[in-house]
Amino acid sequence: MSDRDPQPVERQLPTEEARDLLALVRDIAQREIAPKAAEEEDEGRFPREIFTLLSESGLLGLPYDSEHGGGDQPYEVYLQVLEELAAARLTVGLGVSVHTLACYALATYGSEKQQAEHLPAMLGGGLLGAYALSEPSSGSDAASLRTKAVREVDGWVIDGTKAWITHGGIADFYTVMARTGEDGPRGITAFLVPGDAPGLSGAAPEKKMGMKGSPTAQVHLDGVRVPDDRRIGEEGQGFTIALAALDSGRLGIAACAIGLAQAALDEAVRYATQRRQFGRAIADFQGLRFMLADMATQIEAGRALYLAAARLRDAGRPFAKQAAMAKLHCTDAAMKVTTDAVQILGGYGYTADFPAERYMREAKVLQIVEGTNQIQRMVIARHLAGPEGR
Ligand SMILES: Cc1cc2nc3c(=O)[nH]c(=O)nc-3n(C[C@H](O)[C@H](O)[C@H](O)COP(=O)(O)OP(=O)(O)OC[C@H]3O[C@@H](n4cnc5c(N)ncnc54)[C@H](O)[C@@H]3O)c2cc1C
Repeated sequence: MSDRDPQPVERQLPTEEARDLLALVRDIAQREIAPKAAEEEDEGRFPREIFTLLSESGLLGLPYDSEHGGGDQPYEVYLQVLEELAAARLTVGLGVSVHTLACYALATYGSEKQQAEHLPAMLGGGLLGAYALSEPSSGSDAASLRTKAVREVDGWVIDGTKAWITHGGIADFYTVMARTGEDGPRGITAFLVPGDAPGLSGAAPEKKMGMKGSPTAQVHLDGVRVPDDRRIGEEGQGFTIALAALDSGRLGIAACAIGLAQAALDEAVRYATQRRQFGRAIADFQGLRFMLADMATQIEAGRALYLAAARLRDAGRPFAKQAAMAKLHCTDAAMKVTTDAVQILGGYGYTADFPAERYMREAKVLQIVEGTNQIQRMVIARHLAGPEGR
């Protein structure tokens, strides 16, 4: 058996333009992102310059309208771009997904005037966004959030603490969900808050198991004043907006998970075809061949599932159930595939000399963010059996 490089992913892309786009992204991923990933993750360094490059290359607003600086790409193409970025470095793929999530509220529910004023800078002007829903005491039960926005004569004053915010403390803008009315989901409103607003500050980043290059931090809002034209949608519509954003965001997490799993499989194949024991490449042993076959099958199934959900979304059809299924399956698959990759590399897999252990640490967070996988099961079951407690 000879050493072999991983097979390129067989992608189904709708147009020649999409094929060129993916080729551009692969080039940036291989030349600019992957070579520094291990070292910078180890140091906990956020590659801000990569996000500037992606913005300049038109890759930070892909699924949004070109009228406001977006890339006019269908979700099935945008998600495959994310997959390539995440395969090179999860901090970058997930960062682009979170930025896209942060733009969703304004791009979908903002007024014409708000969109004309803010979207071009958000989608292609080098800005980086954050999505601020979670709080220290409200994660899965996001509708119980406590951050308050109180109406003043010409705007709003926001007070509270957001938790676990990706790009917290370094973002240029935050889509913030705050309570403006009654308890529960109907008392929440969305706001677009500038990163340099007086009273907004990021705490020290959390010390995480993986994705150490991606800053995750609490964000304090202490008497932050925003004019009323920074309110997105109607008063009380914020939770609906937040959940709609997450339906799409979950597809981004699913695509990132498949990118990460593909990187782990490629590493496992590369290693297994080179490492020799008992006088043969370890890839000759059926015990490992079957593991590789199962890993590849889980990845292809995940890719097919997120693409099927994306195509429903692109066709303007309901896709929330399929998005939850894709997030659940793809992130569980990434956890299993990355764990198996460590096993295939044996003792070397357990060291930082190879990327498998980092992939495994990174995979874990994907089962938690944007709705834990328990919450995805709740969403799927609601589509099947209706709300609980009927
Ligand atoms: C690295 C990282 C980045 C993040 N980025 C962001 C971000 O950018 N913006 C943002 O707003 N948030 C972000 N989050 C927060 C993330 O969305 C929450 O961590 C997640 O929603 C879970 O909330 P929690 O951590 O409070 O856990 P909890 O809600 O307290 O859940 C704890 C456990 O209980 C389970 N559980 C809870 N309720 C139920 C139920 N009804 N049935 C069954 N099981 C249940 C959960 O599945 C979990 O296993 C991030 C988190 C991490 C770790």
